[in-house]
Amino acid sequence: AGALYVVATPIGNLEDLSPRAGRLLGEVDLVAAEDTRHTARLLRHLGVAAPMLSLHEHNEAARVERLDACLAAGESVALVSDAGTPLISDPGFVLVRALRERGRRIVPVPGPCALVAALSAAGLPTDRFVFQGFLPAKGGSRRGRLEGLAERDETLVFYESPHRIRDTLADLAAVLGERRVVLARELTKTFETFLEGSAEALLARLAEDPDQARGEFVVMVAGAPPREAGAAAAVEGDALLAALLAE
Ligand code: SAM
Repeated sequence: AGALYVVATPIGNLEDLSPRAGRLLGEVDLVAAEDTRHTARLLRHLGVAAPMLSLHEHNEAARVERLDACLAAGESVALVSDAGTPLISDPGFVLVRALRERGRRIVPVPGPCALVAALSAAGLPTDRFVFQGFLPAKGGSRRGRLEGLAERDETLVFYESPHRIRDTLADLAAVLGERRVVLARELTKTFETFLEGSAEALLARLAEDPDQARGEFVVMVAGAPPREAGAAAAVEGDALLAALLAE
């Protein structure tokens, strides 16, 4: 039986496509792509002409049988999204889960991923982080999500679009207060920028230079500061007392 290759593609700079990814895109029998017109440009750039099939959030479940049949027939399939690693805030999870349940071979072909690229250069702690994808579009749900994260001490990572970057910064300022925020914009592209400061300072920065609000963003926020030593000790003391009393 064939394999499904989950192939990461560039997030801006075509040189970031790995040689292995390029070779596989030329060798597979079928490329399942989030947007076939978008992927056609990449394939043209590589000088390959693989047959393509669209696979996006609205037809993903319906594609499972067809792709499973390809694999059963010994064909190999590459799954790609418009940019970066499939399944990471992109289609593919439904397909990969279904094919795994059927015992098919699924092979990751790693490469660009905006959240990893952003973290690797931001200077915020990376030993533990919480990736939250896109925040909800509606203000109330967005602030609710942030409230739920307010106590987390890991670095918080979000994806954001230019339409909502200001609203998101305003909500970060309102819900999480004074914290170090790093905005990674247009990674690997000509206008790649890292801006850092409090959410409020970054909002002011975007207001004075609207070009900084264009493009694609990864928003990273320092985790909650450690609770005051005194408060933590008091909590531990209470827990100890409770344990002793229970004995
Ligand atoms: N699968 C992709 C990955 O591996 O990063 C993410 C796809 S998601 C639909 C698109 C979002 O990823 C953008 O809105 C932005 O938040 C982030 N992103 C993608 N490319 C980026 C880039 N070049 N610079 C900054 N952020 C980027």
